[in-house]
Amino acid sequence: MQRTSFLSHLECGWCGATYDADRLWNLCPACERPLLARYDLEAARQAFPREALRGREPTLWRYTEMLPVRDPAYRLTLGEGFTPLLPFKRLGARLGLTHLYAKDEGLNPTASFKARGLCMAVSRAAELGVSRLAIPTAGNAGSALAAYAARAGIPAHVFAPADVPPVFVAEMRALGAEVTLVEGLITDAARFVREGVAAGRWFDVSTLKEPYRVEGKKTMGYELAEQFGWRLPDVIVYPTGGGTGLVGMWKAFAEMEALGWIDDKRPRMVSVQSAGCAPIVRAFQQGADTAEPWENAATIADGLRVPAAVGDFLILRAIRESGGTAVAVSDDEIRAAQREIGAQEGVFVAPEAAATWAAVQHLVRDAWIAPDERVVLFLTGSGLKYTHLVQDA
Ligand SMILES: *Cc1c(COP(=O)(O)O)cnc(C)c1O
Ligand SMILES: [Zn+2]
Repeated sequence: MQRTSFLSHLECGWCGATYDADRLWNLCPACERPLLARYDLEAARQAFPREALRGREPTLWRYTEMLPVRDPAYRLTLGEGFTPLLPFKRLGARLGLTHLYAKDEGLNPTASFKARGLCMAVSRAAELGVSRLAIPTAGNAGSALAAYAARAGIPAHVFAPADVPPVFVAEMRALGAEVTLVEGLITDAARFVREGVAAGRWFDVSTLKEPYRVEGKKTMGYELAEQFGWRLPDVIVYPTGGGTGLVGMWKAFAEMEALGWIDDKRPRMVSVQSAGCAPIVRAFQQGADTAEPWENAATIADGLRVPAAVGDFLILRAIRESGGTAVAVSDDEIRAAQREIGAQEGVFVAPEAAATWAAVQHLVRDAWIAPDERVVLFLTGSGLKYTHLVQDA
């Protein structure tokens, strides 16, 4: 039986204006904030019971009805999603936690969870007729774009800071992308992408600057619910740059409740940043609705080196509505956490991912997490592209 998307329209997350979902959009034309995909949840509630998932493919496309791509011919896949949820018994025991888990996103195509977002953004852009794509990246997003653009047969141009680990550049070029290195941070790379947009050269797939990367990343929320037997965990710990995954999971929980798949109990969402670039943590602590740009951002966790996020208000809203919090950890704590996750649990993770374990140690010490709570670390990427950070023992 053909599965149909229940996508109905786009809605601005800030001003609430609505738009035709079958046209191409970047930010809301009225207020320059992110647009979010909305679905006909009434119809989906009837047609898409959670039992329908039984026997479906182990990729994020098992949730097709709640994803934006209408024509099956455009549903690109490299096997993304449905990553393992691993019990972390040894690390948990160190802190007295009886239910510590990790979602191993490093097993996705191109070795990070960026595959989820770019899979969806490229699929939908192809369906809507885009002929050239561009992206600013700290590394992982560029690799994921390159892979899915190749799959779609659409040229891709990637702009990355000059200090991006060389393995990313090799990977992106091997996947057929054009790569330009720029001085500065991801925000400087973004300027080049914007100039090309103004000149009509390409479509911008920067995170939250088009509506569909967040739809790919929200599938982490659907998977968590399914893997936990439709009872969400108590705490989710998420390393936050642009915040797409955190915003996406929060959206997924609301959708699943509307579908009748879960009740109204929600995890407390924890945003983890690096002490050298923590705009969301600072805004959370100040009680602000949006975040001021971070000056002189510096951290070994490249994916967290995002001085300003266009979806800042969505991140802060999700943290607060969930009763969550925001935590900054140092680069030294990240290095130590990376070694511990590897040696204790057998997963070699990216520094961004390691930050989650560093943060949990703070939260348990502060009694913000109780010993019997179910806690999930989002291990967002593999460590294999960051071997320059691992010193000789
Ligand atoms: C991009 C990235 C992040 C940050 O993800 P956002 O959804 O943009 O906050 C975290 N970890 C890794 C490995 C990344 O590549
Ligand atoms: Zn708007």
